Amino acid sequence: VSRESHRQDSIIDVGGIPVGGTQVQVIGGPCSVETQEQMDSAAQHVGAAGCKLMRGGAFKPRTSPYTFQGNGEEGLKMFRKAADKYKLRIVTELMDARMLDTFLRYDVDVIQIGTRSMQNFELLKEVGRINKPVILKRGMSATVSEWLMAAEYIAAGGNHNIIFCERGIRTFETAYRNVMDVTCIPVLKKETHLPVIVDPSHAGGKAWMVPALARAAIAAGADGLLVETHPNPCEAWCDADQALNPQEFQDLMGSLRGIAEVI
Ligand code: PEP
Ligand code: MN
Repeated sequence: VSRESHRQDSIIDVGGIPVGGTQVQVIGGPCSVETQEQMDSAAQHVGAAGCKLMRGGAFKPRTSPYTFQGNGEEGLKMFRKAADKYKLRIVTELMDARMLDTFLRYDVDVIQIGTRSMQNFELLKEVGRINKPVILKRGMSATVSEWLMAAEYIAAGGNHNIIFCERGIRTFETAYRNVMDVTCIPVLKKETHLPVIVDPSHAGGKAWMVPALARAAIAAGADGLLVETHPNPCEAWCDADQALNPQEFQDLMGSLRGIAEVI
């Protein structure tokens, strides 16, 4: 994944949509897939705001085993149906290699490896064997070099379609969910030819912080954003505090267009 092997910036092709290069790609959607109505409504507002890619988790890595764990395969089905209706590519988290065939069956466009799985080396090897694009989130306490090595596990298997995603790291600060590490953006851009995106939602943990963090990430050179947005944030089953409502999401897209060429 090093720049030494590849001087030019790589552009990852997600079903005809580029991630990396001159345009900023915004991936919007809810934290989790809840119902068909929620996904249809989310796909409608995410598409209307101009996004080509949508996020949503069917398998959720929750801190407590007693909270909603995701709708599983049923969730993938709902997501695919809603996304197809609005011609959106889908991004969803894979937690267990045993589900990989199912993900391929639903033609998941981008496989997300979550922060808690960044050093699940067997999972990384499995996604290295296929050629689907992978979003590799940074481990919440991972150094940049550990993160780059995690990406090597995927690339070593032959899959070079890797997108790095900074989602905030753990520090001594407790006033927000995580600290969005802006510094890692130029550092990664120097170290690797692969695209770097930022998730301001899991960094701040509150919806009102998201626009400022998103703009900072783009200004620092990020190739895209992963943003949580829900048709009705108050009723979200997961990460309700950090989800933008449709109007806030649309306003964010507008404000980003003032600083970069946003798709
Ligand atoms: C998510 O994107 O829904 C998620 C669980 O993020 P993270 O792995 O960064 O906590
Ligand atoms: Mn979430």
